[in-house]
Amino acid sequence: MTVNNVRIIARIRPLLKGESEKDVVVSAEEDAISMPNPKNENENFTFPFNAAYGQDSDQAQLFSEVSPTLKHLFKGNDVTIFAYGATGSGKTYTMRGQKPASERGIIPRFLTAIYRRGKELERKTEGATTIRAIMTYYEIYNDRVFDLFQPPEKRTPAGLPLRESNGKTQVVGLIDKEIKSLKEFEALYDKANANRSTSATKLNAHSSRSHAVICVKVLIEDKNTGENKTGTVSCIDLAGSEDNRRTSNDKERMTESASINKSLFVLAQCVEAMTKKQSRIPYRESKMTRILSLGQNNGLTVMILNLAPTRAFHLDTLSSLNFANRTK
Ligand code: ADP
Ligand code: MG
Repeated sequence: MTVNNVRIIARIRPLLKGESEKDVVVSAEEDAISMPNPKNENENFTFPFNAAYGQDSDQAQLFSEVSPTLKHLFKGNDVTIFAYGATGSGKTYTMRGQKPASERGIIPRFLTAIYRRGKELERKTEGATTIRAIMTYYEIYNDRVFDLFQPPEKRTPAGLPLRESNGKTQVVGLIDKEIKSLKEFEALYDKANANRSTSATKLNAHSSRSHAVICVKVLIEDKNTGENKTGTVSCIDLAGSEDNRRTSNDKERMTESASINKSLFVLAQCVEAMTKKQSRIPYRESKMTRILSLGQNNGLTVMILNLAPTRAFHLDTLSSLNFANRTK
């Protein structure tokens, strides 16, 4: 039997330059997010989550919400971490973060933790256990998969094909990179992120219109027992959840929006099915959830719900909160 476990953590980003305290409409208290109804400000909405962080949270606190999944990963199970929210709500800050090191996001912190734990295991077992970490990094744009380790000029318009084997869906032709140190990881990661921006510019799109998926496969080999385990952690910086159909009727943008809406809708259905411990999880109904085999293999899922605090985002914030709420 598969045990599915989903946690939803809300995080409000701080005010940015040009935003004003008097426009703040969203707040966190206890483990809930509170906000007036945009259509009737006398009415207040409260949405409970597994945890809720206000404007003053730091990157270490957010990481502490996902780090307990590390031991699960080392048992050979899968961990999936999503950042969901409108463009400008703090997804990339939460997942990738920025310089200095204190502002590093969940992804580099997770990588550091994998190395630490790996080294510790190797030491404890006097070298009988060895750890390898293999990384892939790709984006899903208009339901097509593009390798972020590949320079944009090498892309084929149709993207990479999928193949099923042993009930698992694989992206054919993705470049695997074995990463041996955090330094190596950071160099690869920065280069791939630069590919993401360049390709978006080429498509006359914005990188916030694609889902960026980073997967790290941790291979654990015990030479004494001959036992091998593989756990995979996938971290996804999702496309902006705002509905561009509201603001633009450009044909390209409409296609993008339809594709994003569909994949986020299926994602919500999968998370809902997992939370309710339903046996059928509709993960095959979108490319992203299919590649991630969401909810299969004893997977643990953490969803970070990123929220902007101000009135300008009021409708997007409500729609994000409703998205997460229906999955409970
Ligand atoms: P998204 O990826 O959802 O579009 P970003 O992560 O790019 O949003 O965040 C928008 C802006 O807000 C960026 O300038 C980012 O540096 C800043 N920001 C977001 N979250 C925080 C935070 N928790 N602390 C400080 N700055 C933040
Ligand atoms: Mg972003």
